Amino acid sequence: MDCLFCNIIKGEIPSDKVYEDDLVYVFNDIDKQAPVHFLIVPKKHIESTDDLVEEDKELVGHIFLVAKNLAKELGLEKGYRIVNNCKEDGGQTVNHLHFHVLGKRPLTWPPG
Ligand code: 5GP
Repeated sequence: MDCLFCNIIKGEIPSDKVYEDDLVYVFNDIDKQAPVHFLIVPKKHIESTDDLVEEDKELVGHIFLVAKNLAKELGLEKGYRIVNNCKEDGGQTVNHLHFHVLGKRPLTWPPG
């Protein structure tokens, strides 16, 4: 299986790493939509939110705590947005589960 984010996690494709632990790899988005825009990616290959199973509960909770901790480290005290695009209509372009974290500018709503 050839997965872009699996290859980034393995270091086969370079990335601008922000953080890493046993469960997740975090790197800056190549096409930043805000002054701070990073992606939190589980090391386990899961295609999308739609493919999550019961045993992934802790992993997803961990991802949100990593988001909160990195937001604090990166000075996003005024707030930030966590985005997950799921499958085609959700606008997902890379089929490996990931959460965008965007901040350091006021973000508008609704999305397009
Ligand atoms: P999605 O559209 O699936 O929610 O988000 C995929 C994100 O991955 C996009 O924001 C896109 O800019 C980012 N991306 C795609 N290819 C690469 C890459 O090779 N390196 C990095 N750092 N980000 C990428």
